[in-house]
Amino acid sequence: MPELPEVTALAAYLDGRLRGARIERAIFPSIHALKTADPPFSTLVGRRVESVGRRGKFVVLGTGPGEGGAKSPEDDGAGRLSVVVHLALGGWVRVSDKLPEPTLPRGKGYVAARLGFERDGEVTGIDLTESGTWKRLAVFIVRELDDVPAIADLGPEPLEPEFTLETFRALLNHRQQIKGLLRNQKVIAGIGNAYSDEILHAAKLSPFAIASTLSDEETERLYESMRSILQGAIEDDLGHPPEELKDEKRRNMRVHRRTGEACPVCGDTIREVTFSDSALQYCPTCQTGGKILADRTTSKFLK
Ligand SMILES: [Zn+2]
Repeated sequence: MPELPEVTALAAYLDGRLRGARIERAIFPSIHALKTADPPFSTLVGRRVESVGRRGKFVVLGTGPGEGGAKSPEDDGAGRLSVVVHLALGGWVRVSDKLPEPTLPRGKGYVAARLGFERDGEVTGIDLTESGTWKRLAVFIVRELDDVPAIADLGPEPLEPEFTLETFRALLNHRQQIKGLLRNQKVIAGIGNAYSDEILHAAKLSPFAIASTLSDEETERLYESMRSILQGAIEDDLGHPPEELKDEKRRNMRVHRRTGEACPVCGDTIREVTFSDSALQYCPTCQTGGKILADRTTSKFLK
């Protein structure tokens, strides 16, 4: 799943390409992907893209009314409408230089939504695609971002200036394993399975350490690691087009999905713990004092 750095880079790319563009097409081949009914998606056509940004793991395309003001009763003329996209596990964006047609391209897989834009005579087509059996990609068209329940519930953004060490310390005050806490969108926005592995490795902490028992020094190390890992990944990702971002993410991972490889810090073999629906990776020497963590699918007693 794309996390904070990839979604930041994707939004920046789309912002550069779409800011100021007029929305020409809005096609939803799969009505399941569209999670809102009011305002209707046809309202988007004719509107202007004001910006493309990110909140948590969501891409937010902000639009304002096109020329001539109100185009429909749903549009009060001044109102901002946002198109909010949650890419989920297998979702991604395909960009083309053509306006999309209502008929789907053959052999190009599942397409959840197709949007077409025009700016200064240049057209851009955006397909929201999704691989895998479970279709979870979700699109919301809302007047306020908080009209998307998962956005209203999001915790703070970890790279914002106001997210201080004290903010972080307060969020850790739970008797919960740190790996799960970092991934919990209601606690901190934007971090998922991949970057939580990377952050914990950089901070030299066990994924199963209990958040509320971390020392001041460990908390500070975790805070600094979180900020530097996310910031570093954004710097690596920015400027890459969408089709390169997934490879870029994979390339930058030091422990995540690198089971059996050598830790780039100490040379120990990277291990994994599997769960019924996911897996985490860690370096025993760097993170657990050399201890091998028990596999959760075979033992529920060991930490
Ligand atoms: Zn190591």
